Amino acid sequence: MARPRTPKGRTRETAARLAVEYPGSAKELCALEHDNPFQLLVATILSAQSTDVRVNMVTPALFARYPTPEDLAAADPAEVEQLVASTGFFRAKTRSLIGMATALVERFGGEVPVPIEDLTTLPGVGRKTANVIRSVDFDAPGLPVDTHVLRLSRLLGMTTNTDPEKVEADLTAMLAPREWGALSLRMILHGRRVCIARRPRCEDCILADFCPSSRVPTVRSTAAVVDQAAQIDKVTPELPAGGVRTGEKLAIE
Ligand code: SF4
Repeated sequence: MARPRTPKGRTRETAARLAVEYPGSAKELCALEHDNPFQLLVATILSAQSTDVRVNMVTPALFARYPTPEDLAAADPAEVEQLVASTGFFRAKTRSLIGMATALVERFGGEVPVPIEDLTTLPGVGRKTANVIRSVDFDAPGLPVDTHVLRLSRLLGMTTNTDPEKVEADLTAMLAPREWGALSLRMILHGRRVCIARRPRCEDCILADFCPSSRVPTVRSTAAVVDQAAQIDKVTPELPAGGVRTGEKLAIE
């Protein structure tokens, strides 16, 4: 296939190939175990600076102890701290969890709101978390930009920005809203499994033939070298028998 040469082309090709590599909807791809938007909000807040596996070890007891926003809003902070301690930053996370639950009760009737403008007013909830909730549980447009999405989108030449909000704006402008959430989760999976920070496995990457940061020679680059050699052949005068032409050497390499 033709190699995409623009940020939009690379973004669309990345979305198409990762959809084959990591199939499923945003809900199916989300690794945080939960039964409703409130639980996903809790799990996403806990996932900061932690792993999905670690969060999934903590949340069953937490959800059983505080099944509703009302229960969590009235919780004893010391008890919550103890339950979430192993996820790290447990004091700050406990403040966010109880503050978030209190805000849900006081301002949203105990329900998780859908608009991003409302979600981002909740303690501990930034754009990334809000977009997770929207895309995974509400089937609404949302493209969370975490460290993997930020890194991969720059490596793949989708954006030159470094600010997550600007990266989100760049990516969402190039894709249909229904694709946003799943693409983010697929890029996270690809960043964890293949395009690993500081040691990307380009030789195993399904995007390597068009990724501007690929460390492996691609089929096209080999073809380009052969083509370049042919051009050199055309303009290089015949050498005496036994002579070596640069073009031939290029073609063999
Ligand atoms: S080719 Fe390499 S740098 Fe590019 S996305 Fe794949 S693993 Fe990352």
